Amino acid sequence: MSVILAEKSIKEENLKLAQKMAAFFRSKGVRVFEFLGSPGSGKTTVIECLVKSLLDSGYKPESIAYIGGDVATTRDTDRIRKFGVQAVQINTGGICHLEVPHVEKALKYLDLDKAKVLIIENVGNLICPYFFPLGAEKRVTVVSVAEGEDKFIKHPMSTRLSDVIIINKVDLAEAVGVDVDYMEKTARELNPRAPIIRMVAKRCEGIDKLREALGV
Ligand code: MG
Ligand code: ZN
Repeated sequence: MSVILAEKSIKEENLKLAQKMAAFFRSKGVRVFEFLGSPGSGKTTVIECLVKSLLDSGYKPESIAYIGGDVATTRDTDRIRKFGVQAVQINTGGICHLEVPHVEKALKYLDLDKAKVLIIENVGNLICPYFFPLGAEKRVTVVSVAEGEDKFIKHPMSTRLSDVIIINKVDLAEAVGVDVDYMEKTARELNPRAPIIRMVAKRCEGIDKLREALGV
């Protein structure tokens, strides 16, 4: 099966680097969550909801850190920084995914001794970021219904390599002619273990379920 080949195709070198990062994060007592998905799937909006929800429930702003990976602008980081949390932008200069050295560089600008949660937003891309793990405890994939109901089937490796799956913008399902039950079923068949959460991130609907899935 192509799925198994894909998992093996994560280079051993990348895995080793990621394991080293994961150990470092554990030593700092920081929970790290990576958000992945296509451009426009709603990653930043989901993260905004998560940050807001954590702050509302008593997390101190400095206890939340964010690294935003993007090919050019600082738009996403600006959206997160407005909450007063620690936030740093990595411009990859055109590279379509983050790698461990990017994260290491970004960490120089964050105070992990104060952080409890680190959120990493990868470059909008549903393919190659999955082969460059960054040491996060959970990898969260955001897929919007507007991307089409066969999205999971077309990206089986990414679906398999996700720890949490968000189906976002479910309020648009009817308008774009998508059967959300079918989408969920196809994701479940490829990945029996990941919680699958339906969200309308622009209204933060589903954020409690996401927090439950992350254990924060
Ligand atoms: Mg974004
Ligand atoms: Zn790439």
